[in-house]
This record gives sequence, C-alpha cells and structure tokens, in this order.
Amino acid sequence: MEELTLDFTGPSDIALAEPVEENPIRLSYSSISTYELCPLQYKFKYVEREPGIRTPALAFGESLHEALRLFHHQPVPVAPSLGQLLGYLDQAWDATPYSDEREERTYKDHARQVMSAYHRANAPRFVMPVTVEQRFEIPIGDVTVTGIIDRMDRHPDGSYEIIDYKTNRRLPPKKIVERDLQLSIYYLAAQEVWGITPRWVTMYYLLPGQRITVTRTEADGIATRERIADVAARIAAGEFRPTENRLCNWCDYKAKCPLFAHESRRVQQPDPVDISGAVEEWIKLQRKAKSDAVRLAQLSTVIHDYCAAEGLDRLFGEDAAVTRTASGDGLWSLSLKENRR
Ligand code: SF4
Repeated sequence: MEELTLDFTGPSDIALAEPVEENPIRLSYSSISTYELCPLQYKFKYVEREPGIRTPALAFGESLHEALRLFHHQPVPVAPSLGQLLGYLDQAWDATPYSDEREERTYKDHARQVMSAYHRANAPRFVMPVTVEQRFEIPIGDVTVTGIIDRMDRHPDGSYEIIDYKTNRRLPPKKIVERDLQLSIYYLAAQEVWGITPRWVTMYYLLPGQRITVTRTEADGIATRERIADVAARIAAGEFRPTENRLCNWCDYKAKCPLFAHESRRVQQPDPVDISGAVEEWIKLQRKAKSDAVRLAQLSTVIHDYCAAEGLDRLFGEDAAVTRTASGDGLWSLSLKENRR
C-alpha cells in the first residue's frame, strides 16, 4: 500500500513500554531475530508469552530434527539402516497440527523422502558427531544467550564443524549464510562452552539435500556480541515498536497489533463513531496535497525561469503576487504576496 504521512510528530503510547526488568535478559537466536524483525512481535511472544500457532511446517521441521538426532546419537560409528532412520521419524512424528489425515500423509510422505535422501548421502560416510542437539547458555555482557546446536563433527585433521539443519524449500544465496546470526552465535558458543574454534559452520538444507559451508572469524564474533548487546539494550529500555514487514500476514499476533487490529475489528462490529468517514476524508486530502505539491514544484520552476530570463523578481496575478527571493548560494524561493499591486 502506498504510504501517506502527515507532518506531525508526537509521543506514541506504543513506542516506549515499561522497561523490561528481567535480569539477566535471556535471549536466543529466535528471540533476537524476532526482535530485529519486529520488536512488538517479540513483546507478544517472549515478554507477554502469548501462545503462537503450532503450524504443520513447524511440526514437520521438529520431527525431522528429532529423527536426525536419534540417527546420529549412536554408541558406535556405524550408520543405522534406512529402516531404522524411518523408524526414528515415526517415533518423532507429531501428528497434532495437521488439519486432516490427508494433509498429514502428504507431509509424512515428504518427510520420508527427505530422510531417504539424507540416508543415501550420509550413511556411507557416517561418523560419530562430537555432540548432537547440544543445549548451551553463554553470557554476553549482561545477557544470557541460549540455544541448541544440532550437530558438531570433528574431522580427521582435528578441525571442527558446526551443522545446523534447515527445512527451507529453497537454498538462500551463500552471502546470506555468511552473515547468518544463528551460525555466529553457535560459533561463539563453541568457543565459550568447549574452548573450540570451529573451522567450518554449515547450514544443511534438508529438502533440497544441499549444504552451504562458510567460516567465521574473531571479527564476526565481536560484531555478533555487539549486535546482541544492542538488542538487549533496546529490550531493557522497553522499545517495542511495531515494524511492518513482509511477514506480517503470517504473524500470529496480527489481530492484536495496533497496525492491523482495526482491520479485523471492523469486520466484526461497526465503529462507534464515524471513524471510517474521517479516515476516508484524510486519505483523500493527503492524496490531493501530494499531487498539489508536485504541481506547485513544476509551476515554481516555470516562474523562476521566467523571472531569471526577464530580470524580474515579482509577477502579478489577479489579486496577489509571487515574489522571488534569491539567497546568496544560488538558491531561490517564491512567496505569496496578498493584495499587493
Ligand atoms: S503484524 Fe507485523 S507489525 Fe504487527 S506485530 Fe506482527 S510482525 Fe509486528
């Protein structure tokens, strides 16, 4: 939607809420990225703890993660068979969020295909990971950052690699993975918790069956710490502005959001005052003001050019005049003179 703005700024009752007193603030990759996307969504989800909607896509992703945790969590370096892996998937499967059996079957068939492809690619070079689904808590300034690392491998040359599974349909560009906050946090966690500096950090995209492996540096670690500290400071100050973004239509809290609540409310009940009339008139006037401003700029240029060519500084209309004033730096302005002939 085209955005029209009125030149008025005033205090907003939603811009600054009460400061958050949780001490220390606990953050995770998910909560940080939620805050960076929309601080108000963060407030609904992590401060007010409004339950979100458990979608089929979420349950599908969690089931794949749990099946792979069981697959890699072995006492000996021998890959479980495909049948065992599919058994782990059955064990991990959460059937509750699907709307009916047909939808569940579609997701389950897809999950079995994804696990079969994973087995083909990984069983022949199966190694026992250093850790799987490892929870961590690390201090960063006044903040405690928590998370779960899907997997960390140790390679024959002694180097370490952190692997995070993703269930996106498409691969992102590599430069997105190079800047990914989640991998940077895991890099820091490996250093803090185990004293290990991973040589590689990898996103494993399970649906297309492809990995994107990148590196992290000490400078990335410092930048990540600063980024987390900045988010924590804004949360502590109670900054929870709604930030409209491309994912608003999928936001679990859209019906409560001040940017969208009126849209759903007016479907259910008419407004007690003629607010719709006021809104329509405001929009109309703003559009007119915008087109008037464009035309004014065009006319100003015509008048200025004429004055400059003719050596004049005032032009007369029927009952008023336009005066051109030049400032020393070559700029000029036009002003209206009423009733001056
Ligand atoms: S609908 Fe959009 S702006 Fe509103 S809380 Fe959700 S993400 Fe934020």
